[in-house]
Amino acid sequence: MRDRAENMSKALAGDPTLPLYRLESVGRAYDGPGERITVLRSINLTVRAGETLAVVGSSGSGKSTLLHILGTLAEPSAGSVFFAGRNLAKMSFGQKAELRNRELGFVFQFHHLLPDFNALENAAMPALIAGASKAAALRRAREVLERIGLLHRANYNVTLLSGGERQRVAIARAVLQNPAVILADEPTGNLDEHTGRQVADLLLDLNAANGTALVVVTHNPELADRMERRLELKSGELYEQTR
Ligand code: ADP
Ligand code: MG
Repeated sequence: MRDRAENMSKALAGDPTLPLYRLESVGRAYDGPGERITVLRSINLTVRAGETLAVVGSSGSGKSTLLHILGTLAEPSAGSVFFAGRNLAKMSFGQKAELRNRELGFVFQFHHLLPDFNALENAAMPALIAGASKAAALRRAREVLERIGLLHRANYNVTLLSGGERQRVAIARAVLQNPAVILADEPTGNLDEHTGRQVADLLLDLNAANGTALVVVTHNPELADRMERRLELKSGELYEQTR
């Protein structure tokens, strides 16, 4: 795995001693058919490197919107988001693509794996996109699959894998580039209790071993309880729950 600090400086020239994320008065509204709906009002949030956070809230409360903003997949309509001190609004399309490729790992409820490729190739994809040689990308993907106990499925087409195995391949792909943070949207939403627990174990193992921060949107109270911080989105505001 590549060195974290070297990664960070290449992708961002940001300061790794600064918080991973700082959100200042972040708002997001959508223009609906008749009216403008405000999903996020004024979100202030700091996420430090290596922290684990759960974001909970009822359906439609804006959890995915918030995660997409953190992932540079959506832009806020008000306020600012800083990643390692860099203002996302000031980054070019290419810089944001590089940030997503090197520093952010995405895990969704539905795995979004490429059906024409096997588990190893799917896991290797971020390195291939970043321009690594095929041999190097596959070597790294093999290491990650081994670590998450899926090497025996490396050559399986992903359509032949179980739901839990697919989600673990998606996690392998998300961590391939040794990102600073994994952004996960309902990662256990589609899994039975036992498999969901395995996926949660895996995310927390990666946090413990690599210091990968976790921001996990979830309806699963057991998963939320395993995160260090728990935040609830309600009426467009974010409330930190104390335990
Ligand atoms: P959650 O993930 O908590 O269920 P979302 O962030 O997906 O919530 O959505 C929050 C609200 O924003 C919902 O009412 C949804 O319909 C609305 N919304 C999300 N995306 C769009 C969009 N692109 N255009 C209009 N409304 C949207
Ligand atoms: Mg959602």
